[in-house]
Amino acid sequence: MHKYRKLAKKIKQRAQELQTMTDQELKRQTTELRDQLKNGKSLDDILIESYATVCEADRRILGLTPYLTQIIGALVLHEGNIAEMKTGEGKTLTATMPLYLHGLIGNGVFLITANPYLARRDAEEIGKVYRWLGLTVGLGVPNDDEEDDDERELDQIYASDIVYTTHSSLGFDYLFDNLATTPDKQHIKRLNYAIIDEIDSILLDQAQTPLIVSGAPNVKSNLYELSELMIHQLKEGIDFKTATDAKSVWLTPAGISHLEEFAGIKDLLSEKHHNLYRHLVLALKANYLFTKDRDYVVEAQTVVLLDKMNGRKLPGTKLQAGLHQAIEAKEGVKLSDETKGMASITYQNLFKLFTRISGMTGTALTDADEFRDTYHLNTIVIPTNQKVIRKDHPDQVYVTNQAKIEASLAKLEEITQQNRPVLIETGSVSMSELYSRLLLAKGYAHNVLNATSAAKENRIIKEAGNVDSITVATAMAGRGTDIKLSNDAKKNGGLYVIGTERMSSARIDNQLRGRSGRQGEPGDSMFFVSLEDKIVTENAPKWVKKFRKQCISNPNFDINQPLTELRIKHVVDRAQSVQKNSEVSGRRQTLAFDEVAKVQRNYLYQLRNKIMRSADLDQLMITAIRTVISNFVSYVHSYTEVMDFIYNNIDYFFVDEKQILEQSWENPSFLTEFLLKLIKQQEQKVFKQFSSDDQLLYYKRLVLLKSIDLMWIEQVDALQQLKEVVSNRNWGQHKPVYEYQTEAQRSFEAMKNEIYLLILKNTLLSEIVYQDDGTIKLVFV
Ligand code: ADP
Repeated sequence: MHKYRKLAKKIKQRAQELQTMTDQELKRQTTELRDQLKNGKSLDDILIESYATVCEADRRILGLTPYLTQIIGALVLHEGNIAEMKTGEGKTLTATMPLYLHGLIGNGVFLITANPYLARRDAEEIGKVYRWLGLTVGLGVPNDDEEDDDERELDQIYASDIVYTTHSSLGFDYLFDNLATTPDKQHIKRLNYAIIDEIDSILLDQAQTPLIVSGAPNVKSNLYELSELMIHQLKEGIDFKTATDAKSVWLTPAGISHLEEFAGIKDLLSEKHHNLYRHLVLALKANYLFTKDRDYVVEAQTVVLLDKMNGRKLPGTKLQAGLHQAIEAKEGVKLSDETKGMASITYQNLFKLFTRISGMTGTALTDADEFRDTYHLNTIVIPTNQKVIRKDHPDQVYVTNQAKIEASLAKLEEITQQNRPVLIETGSVSMSELYSRLLLAKGYAHNVLNATSAAKENRIIKEAGNVDSITVATAMAGRGTDIKLSNDAKKNGGLYVIGTERMSSARIDNQLRGRSGRQGEPGDSMFFVSLEDKIVTENAPKWVKKFRKQCISNPNFDINQPLTELRIKHVVDRAQSVQKNSEVSGRRQTLAFDEVAKVQRNYLYQLRNKIMRSADLDQLMITAIRTVISNFVSYVHSYTEVMDFIYNNIDYFFVDEKQILEQSWENPSFLTEFLLKLIKQQEQKVFKQFSSDDQLLYYKRLVLLKSIDLMWIEQVDALQQLKEVVSNRNWGQHKPVYEYQTEAQRSFEAMKNEIYLLILKNTLLSEIVYQDDGTIKLVFV
């Protein structure tokens, strides 16, 4: 910290000197710094001067002079670390320094925010500084919430010196870039440096949901309803088991044989019944891992998912690989179209594409180990500008949920009487609604944060610091905007945060506490928990349940008193760490799965890029064709097969030389030569149709790309389904990642052969349509 502080002081000093510059002179700094970079200076060489320049520009344009602590944070970000800066410390302004510095090179610098609202706000507000200094700023998200009229000028956006965007916008653009057929349809040219705002939310909380581009519907299956019926014949504990944390469910060998009986089949686990098995697993999951009104709601005959973190409805979002349809079958609503995953990537791997990433958040230290081990990011805690004087009170533990809720409301009344604002954080939407009803019954005016638009949430959050203001919110809602206290509220003791249950990790609890006590303001936080809370029932040892029952049935025990026994106090902490560990290993597994997919994805994307740019595609086509033929020759059994192969892949109208073929097809070297010769002849016929070499090259390129894409889409989809299946086989010595890897590898090899075959077939048998404007269009068979 010492080294950062020293450097930061120098920067502050230099910024003060720059105050004497005229606007013109200050703006000229950009050109001069850029020149220095051109002349071989490194970013570190110009660090002090450029940070000082932004500091002074921040002061002139925004009226905000960065604090020393913000400069320290900015130095930490430049080096590619995570800067832990508490809420209200001013992360937005902090980022201006590293963004300007890296933006000087102009080679792909990003600020990734948690939601489009923040990206828009900051590109507009903070963007003024960079624009004033002569840098270009791009906004990577559509201009308003309407995704339909996406009119973004992608080339212009991604060529900007600094791009403000969200993780999902960037991710989707990246995936679409890799579905393009010509280089000019690829927009993201460079991914160099990124600052990820709320990095814990993106890399940890959202780690389990990869980005998926979905395409044409899969053929609808009628197995969902059937599987739904079948699994209701099964008995829990005998035919299938659920894990104590209710995160996985699996069939036992007994369950498998029962299902085989019901279906009247043998070997359910064989390749032949793979599809049925998959649907049965999906039905089990839908029934035993997903709860109505907690994970999803049913509205107007559709299943709408709820956001795990904040309980918001997620219309339009669907679980992948058939899980959504399985839930629909469970709820007896009409099955929606099953779409196919066309391209997918996890956020972790998306961010690995950058040369350097860094992150900001109020809470990272509790998970510093995981950041270091998994993402090679160091977490550095930035001192606060003012000392934190918020009081974090010990948890109040009750036996029952009811007693806990009453106690928390009593606390709320006490605080409200002191004319202080209160923020009640709940673990789910249903709890927030319950609190809202109780408050209404008592006649307390309050705001509930469960709006669907981030902009509205941020408005409510801003008002949450007035005296008498009571805000009920779910954990994540309104993240990214801080609560500003009015002067009276400050005098009366500041914001009181009441947590109504401990969340899935200490990190998220800390986020809640951090809502209060910003910039040295007064405040308090207290959590109310009960032995009936989800985190406890799912993760605590068995004796806790027994203890709870004893308390409830003991007439001498006052259920409305908080528990004070030390071992009880530890229960919640322990349960939380069990929960966290299981989440960490879940994320590891997801990463391990995507590592496998990544190798394949990179191979494919590189191959596509080569094809798009290369002027000579013959070698690739020859390899493809030779491989197809040698595969075919090695397994062919009959003359009919030979004829089918020719009709289907080489020539619809094959008649000549049928006789010699019939006599000698069993000789492998004859057959090989024969087929290669036939292909050559056909090729010449097809290629003759093109008037120029350019057109021919274009034709070949399209054939290659389409063949690859068609099969790769199948593979992406298959990998997703595979993930569902293997992570659910839980018996015995079973290693999901290993199985995934083996099967993924096998299907990848198979895919390559399918691609080769398609290349052959598409080259020789596609229909070429000449369009009015002279271009050609291909219709593939
Ligand atoms: P964080 O994201 O760290 O919680 P924000 O970036 O939202 O914080 O900033 C919190 C508030 O502090 C904003 O209203 C911002 O304008 C203000 N602020 C930030 N830096 C400064 C500064 N150096 N001087 C005065 N106000 C500041």
